[in-house]
Amino acid sequence: MTRDLPPLREVIAAHGLAADKRFGQHFLLDLNLTRKIARLCGDMSDATVFEVGPGPGGLTRALLEEGAGRVVAIEKDARFVAALAEIAAAFDNRLSVVEADALTVDETAIVSEGRRIVASNLPYNVGTALLIKWLEAEPVWWDRLVLMFQKEVAERVVAKVADKSYGRLAILTAARAKPRYAMSLPARAFTPPPKVDSAVVVLDPLPADQRFADIEALSLVTESAFGQRRKTLRKSLAQAAGRAGTSSEALLQATGIDPGARAETIAPQGFMDLARAWRAAKG
Ligand code: SAM
Repeated sequence: MTRDLPPLREVIAAHGLAADKRFGQHFLLDLNLTRKIARLCGDMSDATVFEVGPGPGGLTRALLEEGAGRVVAIEKDARFVAALAEIAAAFDNRLSVVEADALTVDETAIVSEGRRIVASNLPYNVGTALLIKWLEAEPVWWDRLVLMFQKEVAERVVAKVADKSYGRLAILTAARAKPRYAMSLPARAFTPPPKVDSAVVVLDPLPADQRFADIEALSLVTESAFGQRRKTLRKSLAQAAGRAGTSSEALLQATGIDPGARAETIAPQGFMDLARAWRAAKG
């Protein structure tokens, strides 16, 4: 069911919506592809889907066609509002558009209850910052994230210890969610094509009793450890330890981690233990 909406290329031409690099705009115009992404949301019938950066609305249409109860689209570039209003009218006003910056918007003030899913072909320049914003949210308000990243970033999100992409992003993710690499998309799937390939990652929140709460400490410890990833933890953790008035040796001893090890060999659980020891030392 495509309702009576014109093809996206016509919408873009009619409304003069040439892609603007400042907003990281690369559009998905193939509705088969956007439907595939929308289906990764699972059952959306009783949910509100937050879509960040709807642009001309390819993924937005697919979310509505695939049965989203309601879509709230957050778009920073006001040029798209008229085109999105046509989609809202075609889908019985199940779509509302909020002109805002997704980095600062309070999603729970817009929709305060019910199941909430985030789906987005993310603007590359803010993709990582948005993921971290949602991972850090406490209480966790989202039931699933379905997110398109640059492929290299997607690999960093799902990486396991010792993978070449393993680092801070994988650890922050593992502390809060269960990520799954869902699909790759070549650069040519987008208009205009970006310089690199993309991939969609699906993240489900960990149950409350398995989530690590002290993201500030975890951020600090991983920043220190991976900031100098070629060095041993004894050296690389020295600065973070100093900020808690302790030494890296003391933190490592408290957690039973070899001071001669490098960050990339320590699983997320080890960093959560280090973050707890850091917090205990800081008091
Ligand atoms: N969803 C559309 C698609 O798949 O064709 C467009 C995706 S495009 C990669 C990213 C979109 O995010 C653009 O429409 C851009 O204007 C919007 N955007 C960029 N930064 C944003 C921000 N901070 N908050 C909300 N939207 C933003």
